[in-house]
Amino acid sequence: MPDVFADLVGQDEAVTELRRAAAAAAAVLRAAATDRTPALVAAGEAETGAGAPDPGTGMTHAWIFTGPPGSGRSVAARAFAAALQCAYGTGCGECPGCHTTLGGTNADVRLVVPEGLSIGVNEMRALVLRAASTPSGGRWQVVVIEDADRLTEAAGNALLKAIEEPPPRTVFLLCAPSTHPDDISVTIRSRCRVVPLRQPPATAVAEVLVRRDGIAPDVARWAAAAAQGHVGRARRLARDPEARKRREAVLAVPRRLTGVGAAFDAASALIEAAEAEAEASVAEADTAERAALETALGAGGTGRGAAGAIRGAAGQLKELEKRQKSRATRAQRDALDRALVDLAGFYRDALTMALRAPVDPVHTDTAALAGAGAQKWDAEGSLRRLEAVLACRAAIEANVKPRIAVEAMMLALWKG
Ligand SMILES: [Zn+2]
Repeated sequence: MPDVFADLVGQDEAVTELRRAAAAAAAVLRAAATDRTPALVAAGEAETGAGAPDPGTGMTHAWIFTGPPGSGRSVAARAFAAALQCAYGTGCGECPGCHTTLGGTNADVRLVVPEGLSIGVNEMRALVLRAASTPSGGRWQVVVIEDADRLTEAAGNALLKAIEEPPPRTVFLLCAPSTHPDDISVTIRSRCRVVPLRQPPATAVAEVLVRRDGIAPDVARWAAAAAQGHVGRARRLARDPEARKRREAVLAVPRRLTGVGAAFDAASALIEAAEAEAEASVAEADTAERAALETALGAGGTGRGAAGAIRGAAGQLKELEKRQKSRATRAQRDALDRALVDLAGFYRDALTMALRAPVDPVHTDTAALAGAGAQKWDAEGSLRRLEAVLACRAAIEANVKPRIAVEAMMLALWKG
């Protein structure tokens, strides 16, 4: 039976560090349980690093998992949470503590997954308050914050207060792309221990697709290369024909750029495809949420007091719609970004071929096309096109309207 860290692909160093910390955390609990002299218990508390992060091998109250998209930040955080709740302190993968944590039902593990563009201050305050209570399972209160880079400034401050004066049994696990001040405030960063994850090599990704998901080795190899180290995306490409179709449409872009009109058409097609993908990904959740809220509000009620209830309900429905709109915007940006990463892979292939660099192409299925591009554009032209794609990503990240950024990119790709 594989333990809770088995799904962390190609991250040996991080896994070693997390195993050590989980063992240290278990030792702290044992010391408290055997009720040794206060001095020893105090030493245990010091070992947990209450206050300042411990740069050594012990336990720490606040962690940041960083790494590129798909490297497994949230997988690592959840696995570590499971190891902290594990009855054996190892993350055995079999005990109730491991099971309930990985299954999302452990009463002492709170998972924050932002649905909109940011995590708000009210959500954070409520979370911090609940995290301060005594763990019901007698081990740790664990708070996992995925995409901590999407905290609002006020929410970040609320979190910082809790990290600065952590309740003795509370552990915060933050996930963010990097520790750049744009992602995580410097003060939060200074209070956390950082676990850097790397982009897993394609061979490691392919291996896990075969072992865990039962995907055929040749399909797994292709998907791992095409997904450029993103484990979740590799799995989707291997399994979902729609995802493959969308990728093919994106990789058809370079061939279609035959003039100004074609460039604008390609921009529209890319934006609309991202919108459609995002809509499909959130539609189900939207409908379910609305139905649940309507049931809770007793929609269609006619009894006394129904009018007042409807007035209150209108406000709640409006709030829900606002949240759903924000989630849809995020989903669109994520879908467009995936498309841009695919496109960047194509021009990267053209560049490496023009340079005759001895590296495998990202997209084996369009390698011939990239080779033709390399001949026509040479290294310099290929590099300019790659930079145009990366500039488009950066512009969208900096809040330029996606359509404007994509149109500018398509024109640059066409002109070269
Ligand atoms: Zn366990």
